[in-house]
Amino acid sequence: MNSTAMPGHPTAAMLYANTDFSQLNWFETQWVNWYLWLGNPILATGLASFLLHEVVYFGRCIPWIIIDAIPFFRQWKLQPNKVPTAKEQWECTKQVLFSHFMVELPVIWLFHPLAEACGMSTWQVPFPSLRQLLPQIALFFVFEDMFHFFAHQALHWGPLYKHIHKIHHKYSAPFGLAAEYAHPAEVMILGTGTVAGPLLYCWFRQDLHIVTVYIWITLRLFQAVDAHSGYDFPWSLQHILPFWSGAEHHDFHHMAFVNNFSTSFRWCDRLFGTDDKYRAYRARITKMKKLNLSPAEFEKMERKMIAEAEQEGLRAEAEVEAYTFSGKKKTA
Ligand SMILES: [Zn+2]
Ligand SMILES: [Zn+2]
Repeated sequence: MNSTAMPGHPTAAMLYANTDFSQLNWFETQWVNWYLWLGNPILATGLASFLLHEVVYFGRCIPWIIIDAIPFFRQWKLQPNKVPTAKEQWECTKQVLFSHFMVELPVIWLFHPLAEACGMSTWQVPFPSLRQLLPQIALFFVFEDMFHFFAHQALHWGPLYKHIHKIHHKYSAPFGLAAEYAHPAEVMILGTGTVAGPLLYCWFRQDLHIVTVYIWITLRLFQAVDAHSGYDFPWSLQHILPFWSGAEHHDFHHMAFVNNFSTSFRWCDRLFGTDDKYRAYRARITKMKKLNLSPAEFEKMERKMIAEAEQEGLRAEAEVEAYTFSGKKKTA
């Protein structure tokens, strides 16, 4: 066993000195083994958090990379004329990996001390029950969605857009890997919505386990990658839960540049009226589907509509970029 504990910090062996191992289930035993194997709780939490993010993010992207390579799935592509090339996906992967290692990896070590300062359980066993963790995760979803709705709109303000958020808008037809393709400042700003919910909750309630936070982060990563996938299948979650945003909602944000600022749910955009153009667009598509057009005619009309929405988006983007810090428009 390794005993590389920080000065003044207990080793994992010391932490588990009074634990009855016969009472633990398989997952809890593996959890204890991980902390005992690494010896240092800060290292164990930091490494687990980083590995979880890498495995879940790229693992969730793989099915979308395969789907993009199979023409059969184009019938459900939201912008069928824009399938990402292997080169584009590789360029995006390199950028995302660079940001994960250079920005996220150094910051992730702060998570264990921060979590402990807020009273979160990390190395402790047993794990919380489903009854305890499910309402907590539901709360984190709602908090993150609202936080993201306002923070994302702020990122569409001229100077912030030009210097930060423009990078994420490189892809007007996003794909799974593009979910975290963003400026480091954006990763920090929007990542706050994911992490601050659990930290605040824990600060006030003192009953949160990091394993609940890991489940939440896994679901949130699925949400983010899927929202950027560019596909809307008949079995997509938003057809089962009508308030769920899904790819159909966020794809429009990338295509048309305006509307749809939230992540998981549709209610913020509905409530604040930032989905008017999106709803008008969907209504036109629905109307077109009822016209009994031939597949070729339908495709022609759909492409025309996509091109129009994109042109309008480019105009909106140029207008946003024309704003300066003083709030005045450039008169070039
Ligand atoms: Zn945006
Ligand atoms: Zn996006």
